[in-house]
Amino acid sequence: MKILITGGAGFIGSNLARHMNNVHPDWQVNILDDLSTGFRSNLTGLDATFHDGSILDTELLGTVAAGMDSIVHLAAIPSVPRSVAAPRPTHDANSTGTLNVLEAAREAGIEQVIVASSSSVYGSNPALPKSEFDWTRPMSPYAVSKQATEGYPLAYNFSYGMKNLAFRFFNVYGPGQAAGHAYAAVIPQFLDAAMRDAPLSIHGDGLQSRDFTFVGTVCAVITAAIDRKVSSNDPVNLAFGTNTTLLELVDELEKTLDKALVVEHQDSRTGDVRASQSDGLRVRELFPEVTPVPLREGLDRTAQWFVETSDSAAPTP
Ligand code: NAD
Repeated sequence: MKILITGGAGFIGSNLARHMNNVHPDWQVNILDDLSTGFRSNLTGLDATFHDGSILDTELLGTVAAGMDSIVHLAAIPSVPRSVAAPRPTHDANSTGTLNVLEAAREAGIEQVIVASSSSVYGSNPALPKSEFDWTRPMSPYAVSKQATEGYPLAYNFSYGMKNLAFRFFNVYGPGQAAGHAYAAVIPQFLDAAMRDAPLSIHGDGLQSRDFTFVGTVCAVITAAIDRKVSSNDPVNLAFGTNTTLLELVDELEKTLDKALVVEHQDSRTGDVRASQSDGLRVRELFPEVTPVPLREGLDRTAQWFVETSDSAAPTP
């Protein structure tokens, strides 16, 4: 089996490549990444062919896609605040970039493209927990671009008979997720601060909640989707129905690290969603073989990675 992972030098993509190396050593993994937010050091030790370039380079994309059996399309500018600061680059990479990947797949006769959409598409919809059939109302340019990321491949199923699958990721965390930059996700930010004995910075009151999903669970679901050629004409929430506030997350991290942590509250951020939780029904129905890693265990494994890498092997561009 030949697989192309776009964005494979990033956090989820490099975990996915490693997971495929482990469970399917016979699969040939290819990675296309422009290293804009990914790291070359994430590729260390991977059995994968790396193509350094952008999904906006349609000629390169066509060459790399030729002969693949499936594409996992993760490449994107993955940040709400970055999209608020500069919407056009987000649109180009996430919306146009997805169209480019689908066109490359169509031209190469590849049936299955699996894409990474986001829970942020629900935006101002207050329903909790959320099903895939609840309405979407994006609140940031990033969320709009993710609506295109999931909309195009599903439309291609109808228009061209493809067998695509669009996952909505919900706050994925785990080893390899970079901290120490302005747009870092909350768990690596907290761990990074905790390691330095600095205060944990919370935007707002800390009662905003998330359905945190361990990256190993995400990798297991995507790999099963390729294994069994799972497709769907509706998006699939890739989260299992947990609901953790940031204040509860701080409590959990105190247990994981076995020390008291100090919290510092800051202003709420534009475009941030108050509560985010999936009902977890479709993903369980489609992937009964995958048991999600619980938060407790996932935080332990993530903290362990932070401890191991905090001094020496922090990701390098
Ligand atoms: P990441 O930044 O670590 O990975 C994204 C990768 O895409 C990076 O390696 C980056 O260099 C690459 N990239 C960006 N623009 C590119 C381009 N034009 N051409 C080629 N490569 C390009 O982020 P991640 O957390 O691993 O996210 C992976 C995907 O999952 C993204 O599509 C993101 O929107 C989506 N997602 C992630 C989360 C999460 O919690 N991490 C939640 C929802 C959705």
